[in-house]
Amino acid sequence: MAENNQENNKITDKPDIGLNKSNKNIWSSLLGTLVLLLLFNWLLFPKLTRKSVEVTDYNTFISMINEGKVKEVSIYQGNINYSSETENINQLTKKPEIKFYRTGKMDDPDLVNRLIEANGQGENGKISFTEIIPKQNSPMVNFLLLWILPGLLLYLGASYMMKSMKGKGGLTGNFMSFGENRQKIFAENEVKTTFADVAGQDEAKDSLMEIVDFLHNPGKYASIGASLPKGALLVGPPGTGKTLIARAVAGEAKVPFFAISGSEFVQMFVGMGAAKVRDLFNQASQKAPCIIFIDEIDAIGKRRDGMVSNDEREQTLNQLLTEMDGFDGKKGVVILAATNRPESLDKALLRPGRFDRLVRMELPDLEGRKAILEVHLRKVRHDEINVNLIARATAGSSGAEIANIVNEAALRSVRMGRESVTTADLEESIETVIAGAQRKGKVISDKEKRTIACHEIGHAMIAAKQNGSAPIHKITIIPRTSGALGYTMQVDSGEQNLMSRDEMLNRIATLTGGRAAEEVILKTVTTGASNDIEQATRLARAMVTRYGMSETYGMMALETVNNPYLSNDASLTCSAETAAEIDREVQKIITTQHEKARSIIRENEAKMNELTDFLLKKETISGEEFMKILLA
Ligand code: ADP
Ligand code: MG
Ligand code: ZN
Repeated sequence: MAENNQENNKITDKPDIGLNKSNKNIWSSLLGTLVLLLLFNWLLFPKLTRKSVEVTDYNTFISMINEGKVKEVSIYQGNINYSSETENINQLTKKPEIKFYRTGKMDDPDLVNRLIEANGQGENGKISFTEIIPKQNSPMVNFLLLWILPGLLLYLGASYMMKSMKGKGGLTGNFMSFGENRQKIFAENEVKTTFADVAGQDEAKDSLMEIVDFLHNPGKYASIGASLPKGALLVGPPGTGKTLIARAVAGEAKVPFFAISGSEFVQMFVGMGAAKVRDLFNQASQKAPCIIFIDEIDAIGKRRDGMVSNDEREQTLNQLLTEMDGFDGKKGVVILAATNRPESLDKALLRPGRFDRLVRMELPDLEGRKAILEVHLRKVRHDEINVNLIARATAGSSGAEIANIVNEAALRSVRMGRESVTTADLEESIETVIAGAQRKGKVISDKEKRTIACHEIGHAMIAAKQNGSAPIHKITIIPRTSGALGYTMQVDSGEQNLMSRDEMLNRIATLTGGRAAEEVILKTVTTGASNDIEQATRLARAMVTRYGMSETYGMMALETVNNPYLSNDASLTCSAETAAEIDREVQKIITTQHEKARSIIRENEAKMNELTDFLLKKETISGEEFMKILLA
């Protein structure tokens, strides 16, 4: 299973104030505002606003006064509010219900007289009348309401936004924190990963063991006067366990672990990355002995080539160099860094006194793959597993891929409703990881199915008929999500470190076998061979340009590989004429092998047809089944 203990242990870039706390603040301030607003409303608008009021014209008002129906009059802010009793009797109070009216205040000098006159008339007796003087807020309250309150609200809103952005660590977060307290880099005090979690990679472990010992016991080294390498650089292809082993060093040494990724140093503003480096070393020296781990250091450590300048990155790199020189190697701060592009690193990083120890993490060999499989199988429930078979079938895979394969197998066994992982699960998941999942729904006509089957049997036939090809493991015509319509899987019986010229030629012949079968048996050619063509050409080209296997050029290097760990792309280092000549050589190699493949198919036409029928019927056949029919 893919382990996830790295996840929870990264440097946390959290702001000093947790989001929770500021959330609480915001809620209480919102509540306060609400209460204030209610109060505000209640002060400014008197109780009349909260009763249902009928708006009438002035005439109605006057006539109601004259009829003596009006009970109460109050004048408020240019309105006359008045009330009168209705015929309805309130059931509760046993008194007539009061109805409220409003009308505009006319410039009527007689109004008061009228009201006085009307007093005492009519059935209701007296009218009480008043002019309500609007209550003036004290200047202090006004000031608070108009200026301080909105300001406060704005401030709270803005600061809340800033905090939440910082929490997410977006660009704005950095922008906002400019000049403020910088985000802290936290050390992880107890790392649980140990060397036992890292399978294989014994050489790497050996050379890191010394660092562990030094961190346990710096005095021993200091008393002799030895200072340990300040830094070790882990290099290797992706997924070989560089990050894992760095954690394991901290786990074994039981010291705090400061982990940061190179890209985290590269900030929006020039100088901030450098400040972060300073910060990191400051904190680390307070916690010594400890380990600083800079993952993917190529993000800052790229060679300064003067072509494209990147001020921020260069300053950060310079700061890193200065810090590495500046601190005392005897104190017990060890810097580990990892990269899969060592060739792009600045030479200054690699000089003695900085990352002077280079730890190579290569893709695992057969034994390594077995060990990695076992480490990861420990994490899942499984039956008896043919570890040897799986390790052989995963040639060229990295530790991360093997971890993924084990996890896929566990998922598959759950899907199938089983309780534990079997060898078959692992085999299927290797194919899933390499070729993608099965595409059961894909519609393929019978004619195309026949073509695919014939093509695959062609590959297998050539592989079987040549000495020294890897044995056939499986042939299938079930389409995969990667676009493969079928494939032939060969698994070497052991580990192979070298490939001879003959083996390379055999391989090319096997690759052309699919097309050869189409030509000879079906008398047609299809697009199905495109991937074979690509692979065959790459191999033939490498034979000429890199492995010195052509007669014309012998041991002359015609290509250099740019980036051995990431892609295998190479650039030509020869003249244009030579390049044209290389093309001809490559073509010659491929044509010869293609011709060889065609003649093998021709010789075995009967078997080809028989095997094609068998594969069509079964869709997937094993290497043994294939050989049985071939040799029958
Ligand atoms: P890198 O940093 O070299 O790209 P990682 O250290 O991140 O690779 O490895 C990714 C995962 O692959 C690890 O978490 C682990 O599960 C698995 N893995 C890689 N190499 C090994 C190994 N040698 N032993 C056990 N697991 C490994
Ligand atoms: Mg890594
Ligand atoms: Zn093919």
